[in-house]
Amino acid sequence: MSQEIVFELERELTRSAERLTKVRPYECLVCYVNRMLEEFGCTGSRWMLRYRDLTAPRATALEERMRKMGAGCDCEVCLSAFEPDWHLIASLPRQFDRLRWNADTSAVEKASPAIPHCMGVRRGSTQPCLLWKRRPRR
Ligand SMILES: [Zn+2]
Ligand SMILES: [Zn+2]
Repeated sequence: MSQEIVFELERELTRSAERLTKVRPYECLVCYVNRMLEEFGCTGSRWMLRYRDLTAPRATALEERMRKMGAGCDCEVCLSAFEPDWHLIASLPRQFDRLRWNADTSAVEKASPAIPHCMGVRRGSTQPCLLWKRRPRR
């Protein structure tokens, strides 16, 4: 391959990576992190920090705040700090009905694809939408 083609490929890869990891309009932190985990898995705090950089760059304490809530990395944002509000999710209309909740363990499936589309937050917020609630500390 010529250098030019290699450079062009690299540019295209960068562009599609940016497309795939874009925050959707009004998407909340936790839905975004959950969606990225489904696609790419957990690699530390990468997704919460990317969310912050893209939507709320002044929320410099976000990582620290998440750590205090029990989330030392991205997967713990959706497992330890917050959990899906299954009660609310179960009450949503049928088109949202994609639940795959493990009733035996009441466990939040890691990066569960059962979470419906984000219900939205105002721009610049790092709060979760209504689909998520604080998980009680044990
Ligand atoms: Zn993790
Ligand atoms: Zn959300």
